[in-house]
Amino acid sequence: MNTAFISLGSNIGDRFSYLQDAIEMLTSNKKINMVNYSSVYETDPVGYEDQDRFLNMVIQVDTELSPYELLETCLAAEQELGRKRLIKWGPRTIDLDILLYNQENIESEKLTVPHPRIQERAFVMIPLLEIKPDITLPAMDMPLRILAEEIPDKKGVQIWKRKNGEDAFALFES
Ligand code: ADP
Ligand code: MG
Repeated sequence: MNTAFISLGSNIGDRFSYLQDAIEMLTSNKKINMVNYSSVYETDPVGYEDQDRFLNMVIQVDTELSPYELLETCLAAEQELGRKRLIKWGPRTIDLDILLYNQENIESEKLTVPHPRIQERAFVMIPLLEIKPDITLPAMDMPLRILAEEIPDKKGVQIWKRKNGEDAFALFES
C-alpha cells in the first residue's frame, strides 16, 4: 500500500461542493482510501492575483494505484468537474495536485513528485502540516515545518471550515 498527499483547490462557483465532489470521485475508486484530511482554508490567489479567493485543503490517501494511475484519476476528476467552465489560464473549478507519493522522487514530463512548489506555497504547506506536522520531503534533511516558518504569505491563508476533532469524517458526510 502506498501513501499519497493530494492538494485540492477551487475558486469558482460553489467551491466547497467542488472539494467534496472531487473527494467523492477520488474515493469512489476502490484503490483509493482516504485516511486523513485537513481543515478547509480560504486563501489569496498566488500567481494570477486578479481572481477570486480559493478554498484549499489537503487529503492523505492510501492507494494501490501507481503514481501515474493516481495522476490520471486526478486529471479525470478535474475534467469531470471542470468541463462546464474551463477557461484556459483562468480560475479553476478544481485543481488536484499530487504533493507526495511515499517518499518517492519522480521526474517526468507528465509528473513531478514531490510537487515542485510545495515549499513556496503557504496554501499547500499549512494544510499539509496540519495533517502531518512532522512531515519531511524526500531528499530534505529539514522537517517541512521549519521551512514553513519562513514563508511570507501565511497571512493570506485563513481557516474557513475547521476539521472536526473526534468525528474525522463529519466534514464530508450528509
Ligand atoms: P497547476 O496545478 O500548476 O495550476 P495544471 O493543474 O494546469 O497546473 O497542470 C496540470 C499538469 O501538470 C498535468 O497535466 C500534469 O501532467 C502535470 N503535473 C506534473 N506534476 C504534477 C503533480 N505532482 N500533480 C499534478 N499534476 C502534475
Ligand atoms: Mg494542477
